[in-house]
Amino acid sequence: TYRALRVIQDGDERRAEFQTLPLSELPDGEVLIEVSHSSLNYKDGLAVTGKGILRQLPMTPGIDLAGTVLEDRSGTYVPGDAVILTGWGIGEQQDGGYATHARVKADWLVRQPAGTDASWAMSVGTAGFTAMLAVMALEDAGVRPEHGDVLVTGAAGGVGSTAIALLAHAGFTVTASTGRTEEETYLRELGATNIIPRDELPALTRPLEKERWGGVVDTVAGETLAGAYASTRTHGAVAVCGIASGIGLKTTVFPLILRGVSLLGIDSVTCPQPRRQAAWKRLALDLPASRLASVTQTRGLSEVTELAPQILAGQVRGRTVIDVNA
Ligand code: NAP
Repeated sequence: TYRALRVIQDGDERRAEFQTLPLSELPDGEVLIEVSHSSLNYKDGLAVTGKGILRQLPMTPGIDLAGTVLEDRSGTYVPGDAVILTGWGIGEQQDGGYATHARVKADWLVRQPAGTDASWAMSVGTAGFTAMLAVMALEDAGVRPEHGDVLVTGAAGGVGSTAIALLAHAGFTVTASTGRTEEETYLRELGATNIIPRDELPALTRPLEKERWGGVVDTVAGETLAGAYASTRTHGAVAVCGIASGIGLKTTVFPLILRGVSLLGIDSVTCPQPRRQAAWKRLALDLPASRLASVTQTRGLSEVTELAPQILAGQVRGRTVIDVNA
């Protein structure tokens, strides 16, 4: 049997409860994994509080997992191999990481990089992986440290915190935009040089604002993104990652056609395997456990229902690793 946190339909409401189930209840897939750790992302907050991202019920949330292979019918992995899985719809379209066991497709997995462990992998998780994809996208678009400050919005969140650490490590000067200015010390320790309060970021009042940012990692969307994009320097780029303030983007094409600014879409869920492996390889080098320590708290799976509303309210700092056996 295995133990899982399941979201169920109970009359008109959706709620999460622990269930013990036979392994035969796991979804189809070649690889059976003994999960040791998962993590808490914004999407997990939505899933656990019944906010509609789960395609069917009952379902095990958890968009990330790390653990050990027990069996692999594809022949790619041998029992005992340490593997990581982020995205591909687990914890949304099929059972995810908030369980002691998972069964998934072999193609979705990434091998645990040498010298790292499952706890590190989940400290990175979807949020850190997304931040890495965003930084790689900016670099591929030609953004370089000498082109000016890179702005990170939603800075104290999971994607934001890891993006700051990765950008600082790559030599960029980072400006962090946050609604939690009390987190200034934390953000500076991560590598931010400048901190600006969320409400001081210029909202889009004109199609083209004064040029300020060599690049942007945005996790917030809405007016924040519109303002950042209008303030991006000529031939700069904006990596668009998230929707912490909403899904809107009201803007004009002027930065695109008069400044050659690029809007870059980041989707960690379906990121193709070669890019995925390159990102994890670089994460192991640039974001070792020592650098992630100040960003990370570890909590038990039994605490997830309590943490879920907090991440939706923007109250969770950095990254939360979930020990699925606690
Ligand atoms: P998170 O830890 O909750 O971080 C979000 C941060 O956004 C908060 O910490 C807060 O930062 C800021 N924020 C919250 N509410 C806000 C509001 N109303 N207006 C402006 N800022 C607000 O979540 P996360 O896991 O880092 O994810 C961040 C976003 O990226 C989410 O929308 C998530 O769905 C998305 N995401 C996308 C991908 C992808 O593949 N594209 C992958 C992972 C995550 P401050 O306190 O510093 O202001």
